[in-house]
Amino acid sequence: MEQLKNAIIERGSVVSDGVLKVDTFLNHQIDTNLMIHIGKEFANRFKESKITKILTIETSGIAPSFMAANDLDVPLVFARKKKSLTMNNDVFTSSVYSFTKQETTEIAVSKNFLQENDQVLIIDDFLANGQAALGLAAIVEQAGATVAGIGIVIEKSFQNGRSLLEEAGYRVESLARIESLKNGKVTFLADKTV
Ligand code: 5GP
Repeated sequence: MEQLKNAIIERGSVVSDGVLKVDTFLNHQIDTNLMIHIGKEFANRFKESKITKILTIETSGIAPSFMAANDLDVPLVFARKKKSLTMNNDVFTSSVYSFTKQETTEIAVSKNFLQENDQVLIIDDFLANGQAALGLAAIVEQAGATVAGIGIVIEKSFQNGRSLLEEAGYRVESLARIESLKNGKVTFLADKTV
């Protein structure tokens, strides 16, 4: 997605060989126009998948998911990171090891918001080692619902997230795929579909 790639090049910054900072448009300050285009692109890519719900994770997954849910005319549910919720029997929970924070967090979704017949599109801001997406997928499966696909804004293709998700049988659609962040430079995968 050209508009996203331009934003990454012009407004992103490479923190290290492994981490990209995009708090200028996605993780702190939000470019709402770009989010609208991102959401519409997700909706378009999954329009044949009979999605009934979008599941993301707070906080940074919400903005790019919003317009996708609006376009597909389905509810948007976000998993919460609040620990207190895990004491409650009315939630599905999963443990997620965070690549950036290097700690494990419990995520939870109320049982009220996922049903067996749901076809769920999972959306997240970044794909690194796939732990957030796998945690969300585990919650969908606890509900007996189906993971219809996984939409990622920025995939770091040099990490193993995509292969883990594909090995688990999930369709992954990433709007920008980064081959390398070496030497402070963003290189995208030469892939016609991104
Ligand atoms: P994963 O669970 O795939 O290992 O990592 C994905 C999660 O870690 C995302 O939800 C995102 O919050 C965070 N993350 C991973 N890599 C980066 C990165 O390079 N930059 C930023 N801003 N967040 C990242």
